[in-house]
Amino acid sequence: MKIIAIGRNYIEHAKELNNPVPKEPMFFTKPDTAILRNNAAFYYPDFSKNIHYEAEIVLRISKVGKNIEEKFANRYYDQLGIGIDFTARDLQDICKAKGKPWEIAKAFDGSAPLGTFLSKSKFDKMDDINFSLDINDQRVQTGNTKDMIFSFDELIAYVSKFFTLKIGDFIFTGTPAGVGAINVGDRLKASIEGELLLDFEIK
Ligand code: ZN
Repeated sequence: MKIIAIGRNYIEHAKELNNPVPKEPMFFTKPDTAILRNNAAFYYPDFSKNIHYEAEIVLRISKVGKNIEEKFANRYYDQLGIGIDFTARDLQDICKAKGKPWEIAKAFDGSAPLGTFLSKSKFDKMDDINFSLDINDQRVQTGNTKDMIFSFDELIAYVSKFFTLKIGDFIFTGTPAGVGAINVGDRLKASIEGELLLDFEIK
């Protein structure tokens, strides 16, 4: 099982971090040890002073595929969920400045909390799904998949050129604007179309 996470897939988020809007998808990976399930608490690590939340729609791959054509990509995932792509922004800024890989900033233990997944069949259109993140009952992020630069199908086609997708893999599809820091004691609640699917604490 692997996690593939797409960077800069919402224009407003690319702008808020002063990143250029990409011409093709960019992605990185996280190992299985990044996953937190069942609303488990996230323990703030001591190697960072600036961990950011990024709420993202997550696809669950349901079929093995390589070089998947965009027109068939929708057959390769069966469930959607919401997850958090925790990012050590201070370490990421250093990695970016030095041209180093992002793994220590993105792929650490617990950096990918996942909520309950929903069947894809619950949604009429993949390009009109609302999602949100609340911290301590304040709304901090709202997104709609219509604002993605690359659609789910385009992402699957692109990623599968490089990586064989296997059953149970996850694709984090990018975060909308509004990212920010978490603090010990915060409670994060993430929803798709108003349905609460992920609810956990920072310890
Ligand atoms: Zn992200």
